[in-house]
Amino acid sequence: MEVAHACPTRIGRLMLQRLWKFRGGIHPPGRKELSLSRPLETARLPARLILPVAQHIGAPAEPTVQPGDSVLKGQIIARASGSISAPIHAPTSGRVVEIALHPVPHPSGLNATCIVIEPDGAETWISPRHPIDDFTRLTPKELRQHIRDAGIVGLGGAAFPTFIKLNPGEGKVVETLIINGAECEPYITSDDMLMRHYASQVLQGLLIMRHALQAGRCVIGIEDNKPEAFHSMKAAVEAAGDPQISVVRLPTRYPTGGERQLIKVLTGKEVPSGKRPLEIGVVCHNLSTARAVYNAIALAEPLISRIITVTGEGVAEPRNLEVLFGTPVSDLIAQCGGYREDVTRLILGGPMMGFALHSDAIPVVKAANCVLAARRDELASGNPVLPCIRCGRCSKACPAHLLPQQMYWHSRAKDFDRVQDHNLFECIECGCCSYVCPSNIPLVQYFRFAKNEIWAQEREQHFMEESRRRHDAKQERIDRDKREKEERMRIIKEAALAKKREEAQKAPAGVHSAAPQGNVAQGAPSAESRLRITELEKRRSGTAPPDHEAPAPPDEESS
Ligand code: SF4
Ligand code: SF4
Repeated sequence: MEVAHACPTRIGRLMLQRLWKFRGGIHPPGRKELSLSRPLETARLPARLILPVAQHIGAPAEPTVQPGDSVLKGQIIARASGSISAPIHAPTSGRVVEIALHPVPHPSGLNATCIVIEPDGAETWISPRHPIDDFTRLTPKELRQHIRDAGIVGLGGAAFPTFIKLNPGEGKVVETLIINGAECEPYITSDDMLMRHYASQVLQGLLIMRHALQAGRCVIGIEDNKPEAFHSMKAAVEAAGDPQISVVRLPTRYPTGGERQLIKVLTGKEVPSGKRPLEIGVVCHNLSTARAVYNAIALAEPLISRIITVTGEGVAEPRNLEVLFGTPVSDLIAQCGGYREDVTRLILGGPMMGFALHSDAIPVVKAANCVLAARRDELASGNPVLPCIRCGRCSKACPAHLLPQQMYWHSRAKDFDRVQDHNLFECIECGCCSYVCPSNIPLVQYFRFAKNEIWAQEREQHFMEESRRRHDAKQERIDRDKREKEERMRIIKEAALAKKREEAQKAPAGVHSAAPQGNVAQGAPSAESRLRITELEKRRSGTAPPDHEAPAPPDEESS
């Protein structure tokens, strides 16, 4: 347990914040000064914007435009296609030139469907737009709908649709809303810049989120390596004068920005394994998401851009840029002075949790917060991999209480049941284990591989079950049709029989007089029997056809 953090401010006196420590973690070099030395700029409009329809967790959005269509800035170009999905909006006005497969930012390196827009340079917004000047007039449900329509997803990296995370559900109480300003990963400074420049927007976004969640207190956690951002945020909160909101300075330690680690540091509570933070009354959102919520409600602007850090020793002028989604990475690098010699790796995200890009033609998407161009010796990933010496350092560094060494052996052996027994899916892929491993084993890569394999197997299993379910449903339909056909035939037969009975009843009175009186229930012959009697009598009198030509008796009677 760590010492209480006493803020020397009015709010701070009201909200004395005690901090806790999470297990594991590391202190890698920050390298944040690289991109902080230049001011925030707006990225130039590229020649083409490439917008993948899957920029979030959940079902990909469905295109609502065709090649050749003109679009306006903020117009929906792909609608959400499921309960967990988010629409995509045109980042600028222009013309749709293509809907086709393109390389997208994904570790698999596979292509995916993208809508390509050629900007017209006019930046013409869709109209009318309806900014909301007093969000408290809206119900939480109405706010969530606006946030959903604006295509907002978690901008901390997960890209989970925000409206879902702002819906605690019936009977759930949110005691604490945490705004994650830790930004613990080395090199990345986009949240730092955001707080320096847009602190009041972040705060307004927080207030909207609090209203949507009907939450109690709010805490904004910021690592102590961002003093300017901290003071900017603190000033905004003090100006608001709300004693339920506090800004807390956190000790710099990777991965404090992990959701579970941040909750532990700020509340002392552990999120139970396999559960969501909501189970312990906490909801955590990213700073950039808060600003996107503000833009959606107060300015009626959907999510079409964000601040991205372009950094690394491989780029001439590292800086932060406000970037429209769909902008190719190559355009950002060009605006930052181009590549330096010796660039060997291009990474989307930070050095710990990012993944290598195989091309700089790939566009930035909602989940992207950093482009890192690294020189040959900048990242220590090129060292030779040696055998595991069972030193246990990886376990000590793991903030998720896992046993990376055991997980490594089982992943390597493709024994996915055993690796799951070691709680593989609790791994947050922070890379601490790989970072401390003296044998340079890329442990986190093995865990990503194992997860992907397990997901692929589950998809295959799901596909097979779905096929079997469809086959069973088809067989059931065939059987039902057969039963219905038989039933129809039976009814037709019965109707024919009933008609014959009716005709028999209308036969001449002399014939009927031969039959006993009374109804069937009382032992009277049935109409069929009477029919047969009539025909027998006709044959006897020579007016009926021979016996072999007589109508067959009804099924019921023949049985
Ligand atoms: S840190 Fe590396 S060498 Fe040490 S036990 Fe873990 S995997 Fe093995
Ligand atoms: S990558 Fe996974 S196993 Fe490795 S330290 Fe992070 S949480 Fe633990």
